[in-house]
Amino acid sequence: MIEMIRNSILVVDDEKANLLLLSRILDEKYDVYTAKDGASAIKKAAELLPDLILLDIVMPDMSGYEVLDALKRQSVTRAIPVIFVTKLSSPDEEEKALSYNAVDYITKPFRPNIIKLRIRTQIRSVNQIRTIERLSMTDQLTEIPNRRSFDNRMNVEWRTSIRETSPIGILMLDIDRFKNYNDTYGHQQGDKVLYAVAKCIEKSLTRPRDFAARWGGEEFSALLPNTDLGGAEEVAERIRVNVEQLKIPCEKCPDGMASSVTISVGAASVIPDNDSSLDRFISLADNALYEAKRTGRNKVCLASE
Ligand code: GH3
Ligand code: MG
Ligand code: MG
Repeated sequence: MIEMIRNSILVVDDEKANLLLLSRILDEKYDVYTAKDGASAIKKAAELLPDLILLDIVMPDMSGYEVLDALKRQSVTRAIPVIFVTKLSSPDEEEKALSYNAVDYITKPFRPNIIKLRIRTQIRSVNQIRTIERLSMTDQLTEIPNRRSFDNRMNVEWRTSIRETSPIGILMLDIDRFKNYNDTYGHQQGDKVLYAVAKCIEKSLTRPRDFAARWGGEEFSALLPNTDLGGAEEVAERIRVNVEQLKIPCEKCPDGMASSVTISVGAASVIPDNDSSLDRFISLADNALYEAKRTGRNKVCLASE
């Protein structure tokens, strides 16, 4: 997966000549944005979420230190690395700047090639962190989000639901008789089925905030913000049918009718408040899934309190 997205840099300096010079040096390799004072720098950083910020220290309204402070207090900009670019060249200033958690300190006048190389180092490290974050959130086999990613998203949506008094839906989905499939067709073929089912579940979700993940083994979960039980049932049934329609042959699969790979789904929905338990919510869907297994498989069951 090679990403051809250009990295972006926000340059903050009160002197137009400096902005022009830095832009000219950098815009061959990066998308460069500029801000000429602290307030607009903080605003632009939050809007544009640049990969790196070059920050002047001496500016008329707000100093670079104050800007950096504000960036660190704002959750969306907290992790953006900041390099001070300044004409203050004393060791005391440099020590102070680095102690403010700037990642580097460059004094003006600078040599263009040195600033380019220092920026390259920081951008590489930003990109490496991104790659690691992406890998740690993705299930390797199915390439859909993993359990860790689901837990993160669930926590955010759960709190949003409480705040907005809105329903939240969850589906637990499990491939039927999958042990049997592996025994018949082999594990490698089984892996391909897991991939196909994962993609099918993902494609069956239509709203932007809907979120599917591999829960573990041959089990998946789907998070449906702003969805009541009726809505969750509808989505669950859509996914069940779509998986059936994949018509993945499973000749020796028992259970009478099924001659292709199918799934069972448990669905739950609640309007949580501060006393609600997330674990309990998940076990509601789990119990419904168990019910679907117990009463015939290839079906959707709804949670009942
Ligand atoms: P049920 O209808 O009750 O869900 O039956 P089942 O056989 O699907 O359920 P069970 O929990 O007994 O077995 C799950 C099987 O899923 C066991 C294992 O062979 C298979 N499985 C789990 N993870 C993977 C995987 O990563 N790759 C493959 N190929 N198979 C997996
Ligand atoms: Mg199963
Ligand atoms: Mg299972």
